[in-house]
This record gives sequence, structure tokens and C-alpha cells, in this order.
Amino acid sequence: MDQKMENYAALIVREGVNVQPGQTMVVNAPVQCAAFAQALARQAYAAGAAEAVIFWSDEICRKIELMNAGEDVLTDVPQWMVDRNMHYVKKGACFVSISASDPELMKDVDPKRMDAAVNALRRAQMEYRTYLMTNQGRWCVTAMPTAGWAKKVFPGLEEAAAMDKLWQAILKVSRADADDPVRAWQAHTQSMKTRIEKLNALRFDALRFTSANGTDLTVGLADDHIWGGGSEEDAHGVPFSANIPSEEIFTAPHAHRVDGKVASTKPLNHNGVLIENFTLTFKDGKVTDFTAEQGYDTLKYLLDTDEGARHIGEVALVPYDSPINQTGILFYNTLFDENASCHLALGDAYATCIAGEDRSDAALQAKGMNKSLIHVDFMVGGADTRIVGVKGAQETPVFENGTWVL
Ligand code: ZN
Ligand code: ZN
Repeated sequence: MDQKMENYAALIVREGVNVQPGQTMVVNAPVQCAAFAQALARQAYAAGAAEAVIFWSDEICRKIELMNAGEDVLTDVPQWMVDRNMHYVKKGACFVSISASDPELMKDVDPKRMDAAVNALRRAQMEYRTYLMTNQGRWCVTAMPTAGWAKKVFPGLEEAAAMDKLWQAILKVSRADADDPVRAWQAHTQSMKTRIEKLNALRFDALRFTSANGTDLTVGLADDHIWGGGSEEDAHGVPFSANIPSEEIFTAPHAHRVDGKVASTKPLNHNGVLIENFTLTFKDGKVTDFTAEQGYDTLKYLLDTDEGARHIGEVALVPYDSPINQTGILFYNTLFDENASCHLALGDAYATCIAGEDRSDAALQAKGMNKSLIHVDFMVGGADTRIVGVKGAQETPVFENGTWVL
């Protein structure tokens, strides 16, 4: 297991953030993931990094704070916390985040307090978030099992067995269990390129999603949209993979050209609360109505974050037979579940998904880019999902029965 985790760490360092000689790597690590953070640090130095910096967090302490601290404490983000990230941004660091949260840990926290705390943090960290969202710096989201998470995924197993099983699944879908994980990952991202080029050449105006679960949604695409996926390039042309694993091919929708209704196909773990069996109804790009069998209040606060939270900023295509879905595991973690299903994201769009000389917000927003404090992916793909690409009066089948026909 130790060797496998080391190989996985090497994959994240080399293909995820692609650490360059002399560079600083920052790791956001839950304390339960110390062993993995240590492996990442070892591998970063092996790749020539100048330093590996670890920012530790503990979700249980965070829960205690969210349950007990005064609201002024929850919404006060100390300047040193902002400066800490910006110090490393200015050094041109790359950033790794280990995603490992217990999917239901925060269910007893008042959603209003959670929302206030999370938004205060997002607002304060805007400059840092922009650095990542616009790929000025390289970043990678990865994962490691923790007891609470593994028990939710495999409730019938003892804790140790559940952790072990979740580890095997993570390593498999990340291709970290291959003989040469770096080569296997490169072959995978290369295979996504052909389809990305095809979609970029087709220049659809919109995609129409339909499914027997009630989904009938037309997603207009941003003007001059660019499809991407697998590996991307930072502002200096250095390649990296922002998510490992990743199976999605994604672009920017037009913030004001989304109409119809969409039903979720997997639960959404948002800030430690599950939102399940929900629907969103759009008119002219805006969510005008919504339902949720579970987590309604959390969804409501999410949608009310700001104007852009009621519009979408990402449309991503993932076949139903994706290797992640083939594991048959519901991960309750967006990094995995979004790569097992077509998904949309409420909130901020990736500016890198829209072409054009003028990179100002005004110019990109005129082409349909959505702006928001949030970017929250939710899963809408199912076994019968049908997608057609619309260009003028012409319709081209893209997905039939949940998978590619293009
Ligand atoms: Zn996505
Ligand atoms: Zn996303």
C-alpha cells in the first residue's frame, strides 16, 4: 500500500501540478491525510521543487467552530489567512488539494451559518481563486480515503476494509495502479484530445439534454467557446491536469441561454451536506424554480449566494460507461461523481473556455461567461441520457443511451 500511495503521489506531482525545478508546491491537506501529504512532499522534492508547504485542516474542528462560534467569528476571515495564500501565489507556486471530506459531517450545522462562513471565505480569497480558475497557476484536486467518507461509501464493511476498498477504487480510476502511472495518465489524456478537437470544429450553438427522468434542457454555448479536458496548459504553456481522476470534456455555457428543466442523477455533497433528488428549472439562463427531496435549504442558500449562482458556468460530457461509473460505486465526492456523469456547474465559468483577444470580464461576459462566487458541479447524466448538438436548423446526435455517438 505504501508503494502504491507513493506512486499516486508521484502521479499528482508530475502530471497533476507538474512541479517544475525550483518551484514551490502548496498542499491543502486534512490532518487525516498526513501520510499522503508526506508522500506528496517527498515526491515534490524528488521532482526538484524548492519547497513543499503543507496547510493542515481538520473538518471536525471546523464543525465544532461552525456549531459554536459567534457569527462575527464565522464571517471574519483574518488577513493573514488571505496573505498566506497570496504569498505563495506571488512566488508562482502550484497548489494541490486533497479532497476527503465526510459527506454528511455537517448535516447538523445550520445551513445559514455554513453559507455565511463559506461565502466570507470565498470573498476574501477571490484573488487566489482567480489565480487558479484562470489557470495562471497550476493546480490539482486529488483524494485520499478517510474513515467517515469510506464508511459512507461502504456502510456494510468494517472501517479498515472500507478504507482499503475505497483506496483501491481511487487508485484504479486515477490509473495510479498501472505499472507506469505517468505513462497511463498521458495515454488517457491523449485519447480525450480527438473528441475535444471534433467538438471544437463542430461549433454547436447549443446542446439539448433529454432523459426519461424529466430532464429536457437546452444549454446554449458561449460565443467562441472552447472545449477542453484531460490536460490543460497554464498561462506560461506548462501542461497540467487540474483533476485526477478526470473523464470529462467541458466548456462554458451561455449564462443567459439555458432553458428547460434538469433532474439530478446523483446526490451532491455540498459543504458536508447531501442534496438529493433535486430539479432545477431555467428560463433565459436563470434558475426560476427548484425542488429537492433532501438538502432543500442548502440548495436554496447556494442558489441565493449571488446573481451568478442561479446561472450555470460549466457543461461537461462524461459517458455513462466511464471507468468511474463502471466501478458501480457512488462516491459522495464530486471529484469522482462528476467524472462518472454528465454534469453542469452552478456559478463561475472558466475564462479559459472562451476564446478572444480581449480577456476583460466585460468582453467575456458579453460572450456569455457567467460570474459568481461559487462553482458547484452537479450530476445530470444517466443511462438513457440523449444529447443532440444544435447548430441553426441542424441537429447532430452527440450522446445516445448515456454515451458518445459522435
Ligand atoms: Zn466539470
Ligand atoms: Zn466544475
